[in-house]
Amino acid sequence: MIAARLCFTGLLFISAPATPAPAAIAIQTGHSPGDATFNLPPVPPPALNDAATKAVFKITGGQADSHSGALEVLHDGHIPASSDSPRENFFFAPDSAGAALLIDLGRGINLKSIATYSWHQAGRAGQQYALYAASGGKDGTQPAPDAAPDSPGSGWTLLAKVDTSAKGPGQHAVELSGSPQATLGKYRYLLFRPQANPDPSGFGQTFFSEIDVTDANAPEVQRLRTEPLLDTYQTDDGKYTFTVDSTRSPDLREWFGKKVMPAVKEWYPKITALISVPGFPPPDKMSLRLQEGEIVPGNRGIPAYAVGGNIVVSSDFMRSEANREAIGCVIHEIVHVAQTSHWGPQNHGRVPTWIVEGVADYVRWFLFEPESRGAVIHQPDDARYDASYRTTANFFDWVIRNHIKDLPRKLNATFSTGYHAGLWRDWTGKSVQELAAEWKKSLFP
Ligand SMILES: [Zn+2]
Repeated sequence: MIAARLCFTGLLFISAPATPAPAAIAIQTGHSPGDATFNLPPVPPPALNDAATKAVFKITGGQADSHSGALEVLHDGHIPASSDSPRENFFFAPDSAGAALLIDLGRGINLKSIATYSWHQAGRAGQQYALYAASGGKDGTQPAPDAAPDSPGSGWTLLAKVDTSAKGPGQHAVELSGSPQATLGKYRYLLFRPQANPDPSGFGQTFFSEIDVTDANAPEVQRLRTEPLLDTYQTDDGKYTFTVDSTRSPDLREWFGKKVMPAVKEWYPKITALISVPGFPPPDKMSLRLQEGEIVPGNRGIPAYAVGGNIVVSSDFMRSEANREAIGCVIHEIVHVAQTSHWGPQNHGRVPTWIVEGVADYVRWFLFEPESRGAVIHQPDDARYDASYRTTANFFDWVIRNHIKDLPRKLNATFSTGYHAGLWRDWTGKSVQELAAEWKKSLFP
């Protein structure tokens, strides 16, 4: 699905009331209900190596929500994978009166700009905060003022008050900068005082995704890529085309192209030859997208999934399993793409999941990488034919070797003809329970 994108932007200059007052501070905002990359002009995309990257972030008022990510998510250069990724954002608990976040830049820095990014599908998107700054004394060595920032002589300078809550759900970005002639001033400490968005159910605390601080005296920062990074691959006969999207994980682009795609190009035609049924050609185009963070919100640990001809792969899983499970996991998913030719809405749910997953794991563990012995069953109690994934794959392997050579194609055909347990007797003369008993006996005589 291609998300529709609309951008709303605003630009206004305010004069900060406190002293020493910067001449003028420009507040620019960007918003999009559909973008997923923080491409929200005129605010630039999040920076990767700005002055906040190594700053110390500390909560000095209120508490983090128990579902929030750690403070690190605010300055790690990574953006959330989706519009509802609590662990990839930082947000305060609902009852956080006096919520405050202190950023210690370590030394006085001549500030070019400060930018805040947030993303949520509902009431946690808008940003409402007051931002204060303190110099840390003449040489920037004093601790941050601990007085209430609005009290007279507190040592804090109010830089800006921001409110983007009226723009609604989606991605929000706010950038504060000096006038064209001047910076925001030289400061060591920043104090954010966020306020919850109006939400009667109490879920209005903003999902802050990233906070950037740029140093006017540092080299130009690197920014997150918002242009798509796409590579196209084809089988040698030109029959199948694969598009790899590494926009979010450019570090994996070369490795994926060199290590994963040759296996995909070699095995997708083999898989289609193994399972495809006349009249149901498998998709001849497939997209593979590398995604950071939780690829299914709220389900950490899902390494990949396929929907139709689109595969989404966890970049974290690819990195940590590069020399172990990564390629086999992608092979499993491309089996699902080949199965897809039958998955019209009318066929959805006609075939039990254990069969769908069992075939995918059969291809992976018994054909693609038998040497890794990933589907060996160690305990008799584990030998259940419908336990799905690699256990079912082991059962299918036994049935294929002993009874029905073209079982994968027969099973795939049931996506259109319908599956029922009686098919096993039609194919082998034995019920699935009888076959399973024989299989178990062969494993544990
Ligand atoms: Zn699967």
